[in-house]
Amino acid sequence: METPLHLSDDQETQLLVVMEGTATPDMVNRVCAEIQKMGLVPHPIPGPHQTAIGITGSKSRVDSDHLLALAGVRDIIQITQPYKLASREFHPENTVVDVNGVKLGGESFVVIGGPCSVESREQTMEIASQMADAGVRLFRGGAFKPRTSPYSFQGLGKPGLEILAEVRSRFGLRIVTEAIDTEMVDLVAEYADMIQIGARNMQNYSLLKRVGRINKPVLLKRGMSATLEELLMAAEYIMVEGNSRVALCERGIRTLAEHTRNTLDLAAIPAVKRMSHLPILADPSHGTGRRDKVLPMARAAFAAGADGLMVEVHHSPESALSDGQQAITPLEFELLMQQLRKLALAMDRTIG
Ligand code: PEP
Ligand code: MN
Repeated sequence: METPLHLSDDQETQLLVVMEGTATPDMVNRVCAEIQKMGLVPHPIPGPHQTAIGITGSKSRVDSDHLLALAGVRDIIQITQPYKLASREFHPENTVVDVNGVKLGGESFVVIGGPCSVESREQTMEIASQMADAGVRLFRGGAFKPRTSPYSFQGLGKPGLEILAEVRSRFGLRIVTEAIDTEMVDLVAEYADMIQIGARNMQNYSLLKRVGRINKPVLLKRGMSATLEELLMAAEYIMVEGNSRVALCERGIRTLAEHTRNTLDLAAIPAVKRMSHLPILADPSHGTGRRDKVLPMARAAFAAGADGLMVEVHHSPESALSDGQQAITPLEFELLMQQLRKLALAMDRTIG
C-alpha cells in the first residue's frame, strides 16, 4: 500500500498528469516511477479514453518540465479544490463503484433495501426474502448500531453479521452494513460487501483512514450538519489511503423543520455531481424520518439525478427495535419499485 504524503495548507494545489489516449501501460508506469523518484505518490486513474495520474505530496517537488517531456504525457493540470482525489477536476468521468457485480454510479439506478437493524434471524430472513422478490440486489441491515441513547438497542453484533452472511448465501444479496469503530472494521469487512460509515462517524478520521486501507467499497453518509466540502474531505481521507471505491449518501441534515426528522437536501445531489466524480445515493428514510414521506422523497431523489437509494424496510414497523417510524412495509417498497420503473422510462435510465 502506498504511504500517503501530507500537505501543508499552502501546498493545497495538486497536479494531475493527463496521458495521451495512445499512451501504453509502459509509458504510464514510467511516469509513475518518475513521480515516485521525486518523492511523490502517483495515483493512476484509468479512464475509458485515457489514463490520468494524480500526484499527491509537496507541489514544490514536482518537476513539471521533466514529466511533460516523458513519452505519452499530454498535459499537467492543477487541482484547486481542497479535496483532490474526490474532485471532478481530478477525474472528469463518473466513477462506477462495483459492489461484487452491482454497479453504483453507472447507467442503472440501484436501490439498497432492508431493515435499519438486524434484530433476529426470523425478522431479517423475512425482510430479505421480500427484498429479493422486489428485485433488490444490495441488502442493508445494521449489526452495530450507533444510537443516540445508550439505553436503546445497540445491535446484535457478530451474531447479526452471521445472519447477514446467511442472507447472502440464501438469497444471493450483497450486504451493506455499518462499521461504527476502528476495532470492528476487520470483523465487519469479513461479512460485508460494502461497509457503511454512518452520519455520526463522517468525521471520525481514524475510522475513515482505517476503511481506506481495506479492500472493500465504502458507503459514506453525510454528517447531519456537514457541508458538501466536509463530506468530500471525508471521502478524501478514505481515498488517499488507497481505497477509491467510495459512494456518497445524502441522508438529510439538521434544520428547523418539525414536519420531518431531518431535511433531505436534494440540491446536494446535483451539487455533488458537479464537485465530484463519486456516485451519490439518497436515503429518504433517515432523510425524512417519517414513513409517509419516504416514497415522495425517493421519487424526488431519483428525479434529481441520484445514482441510487438506501431505504429502510420492515415487515412490522411498529415492533421494529430501531427507526420503526420511518420504515416502509415490503408492500410500500414494491409500490416504490413500480413507480421508479415508470420514472426510469421518462428519465432514460434503468433500475438495477
Ligand atoms: C442507518 O443507516 O441506519 C443510520 C444509522 O444512518 P445515519 O448514519 O445516516 O443516521
Ligand atoms: Mn436507521
